[in-house]
Amino acid sequence: MSDVSVIGLGEMGSALAGALIDGGKTVTVWNRSRAKAPPLEGRGALVADTAHEAIQASPIVVICVSDYSATSSILDTAGVKSALENRLVVQLTSGIPRQARELAQRVSAAGALYLDGAIAAWPRQIGTPEAAILFSGPRAVFEEAESTLNLLGTPSYIGPETGSALVLFNAALTYLAGHWIGFSHGAAICEAEGLPVEAFGEMMAGLSGALGQDLRHMGQVIAGGRFGRPESTLRTASNDIARLVDLSDDLAIDPTWPAYVASVFQRGVQAGLGDEEHCAVTKLLRRR
Ligand code: NAP
Repeated sequence: MSDVSVIGLGEMGSALAGALIDGGKTVTVWNRSRAKAPPLEGRGALVADTAHEAIQASPIVVICVSDYSATSSILDTAGVKSALENRLVVQLTSGIPRQARELAQRVSAAGALYLDGAIAAWPRQIGTPEAAILFSGPRAVFEEAESTLNLLGTPSYIGPETGSALVLFNAALTYLAGHWIGFSHGAAICEAEGLPVEAFGEMMAGLSGALGQDLRHMGQVIAGGRFGRPESTLRTASNDIARLVDLSDDLAIDPTWPAYVASVFQRGVQAGLGDEEHCAVTKLLRRR
């Protein structure tokens, strides 16, 4: 027996296994393509020939593969169901809350405990306090695994509902999607006008403190339903963002991103939200 088994040795799974080894755990690993195992074997990992052998090898089984369908296909392989009995499965594969709930049921039916996790970090941060990892599931199960999970980064317990970690993860991902595409569109503006994109990155980094405050403010505004008396109205933002479409035309760059955002803010004004906070657009996004 080893202390922990890690299934999936991609960028993230390899980082997780490495952090567990560095933390003094005995680790068994399994990957579909065996070629990814030797670097970890060189650091002391035991390499299982099959997924079910890896599951049999340790009381805690960490899974980190591309998606939930990859996890399902691993669980479908011969011998896995019986190997799961009395194991604690920690799923660190990204997905959506429904998939976590379905997997929890499947794993529980096989006699194992289940903890769902979502990693909000890069592989290079794993094993350091910078690696934020969200967990949901029974608190007692989290506490049972906590000393092991601490080796991976900074684990946060979100709550007992299985899908909660992925609710927060996906909320953060949708925010980041705007962050990435917004930065990329801004970079296209700078390039088209011959300004260095590095300077744009530096300028935005200088705003990070204020952006952090704005995030906290929006959370409080939306949770409290206090959309009135903003410092800058949704109407002002709508006018400013509409000009980004004209700018895209002037620079002959792709207008898709500003056109989408402008359309949402215009709908907000048309819906009578013009005098409210920018984030009052959430009222339009709550339901289809
Ligand atoms: P990756 O490097 O592409 O590795 C994917 C892993 O999934 C490989 O081990 C691959 O095995 C395995 N896999 C895929 N389909 C499979 C199947 N049908 N059966 C068995 N194994 C299968 O991806 P990654 O970056 O490690 O990401 C893994 C998870 O971590 C994802 O859910 C990702 O969202 C999450 N995550 C990643 C990051 C990051 O920065 N990388 C950050 C946060 C969260 P093979 O080697 O055989 O192909």
